[in-house]
Amino acid sequence: MDAPMTDHLSTVRHVILVLSGKGGVGKSTVATQIALGLKHAGKKVGLLDVDLCGPSIPKMFNLEGSDVHQCPEGWLPVYMDKEQTLGIMSIAFLIENTDDAVVWRGPKKNAMIKQFLSDVVWRDIDYLIIDTPPGTSDEHITVIESLKSYCPDGALLVTTPQGVAVGDVRREMTFCRKTGIPILGIIENMSGFVCPCCGEITNVFSKGGGESLAQQSHVPFLGCIPLDPMLAASLEEGKDFMEHYTQSPTFAALDNVIQRL
Ligand code: ADP
Repeated sequence: MDAPMTDHLSTVRHVILVLSGKGGVGKSTVATQIALGLKHAGKKVGLLDVDLCGPSIPKMFNLEGSDVHQCPEGWLPVYMDKEQTLGIMSIAFLIENTDDAVVWRGPKKNAMIKQFLSDVVWRDIDYLIIDTPPGTSDEHITVIESLKSYCPDGALLVTTPQGVAVGDVRREMTFCRKTGIPILGIIENMSGFVCPCCGEITNVFSKGGGESLAQQSHVPFLGCIPLDPMLAASLEEGKDFMEHYTQSPTFAALDNVIQRL
């Protein structure tokens, strides 16, 4: 039997997992923007990146190269602000070169995830957002088993509008149902392109796949987030989109998701 975990999660009020059927659909993007939006709404937030093979969260905050500090109770997250309202933990802070892929077998990955969930000192936070790897894997099961006694609020499922990506989300829903994780809702990302000149939205890909899947599956649809060059640039530069682009339709879409959490 596993040793009982240290109880740093007992002071976390809400735990939300972010899942996607495949990589590249914007799961980490949604996780970071929700964390930022909650921070700007006055909440204390933790963001845990358990995508061990593709940790992109530190770059999205321009925090690459930051070090994790140890305190007597465990690991301190890396804070993006001096007020310490948004703390981040990622494998990228622990490896020497972020260009080196993490090539670990399952047990080592699972041990790392358990350590993240037991040893990070989040302190008294309102939300812990967990960015998971794409698909459904051993790592997801480890996260869910480790969180069981903390009753996570549930999972946000991110998809793009196309049928292929939506098909993968069906498998995510089955996974959530089998593991007893409530589905908070589906988010359709990259849904329409926001013109940087006039703000008009064009549906480059198809639209509505996520919404119709939500309807068919009787789960909440949390909205469409456009493909927005300003958001892409903010992520590249590690700039806080939710602070700087409050007038954009993308901000409104993300804010709408946050209001419904
Ligand atoms: P995942 O976590 O699903 O692998 P990411 O969040 O890393 O995907 O996103 C993949 C790429 O797409 C990133 O470069 C990100 O900047 C970009 N991206 C994601 N969503 C959007 C969006 N709504 N508008 C513009 N770029 C986006």
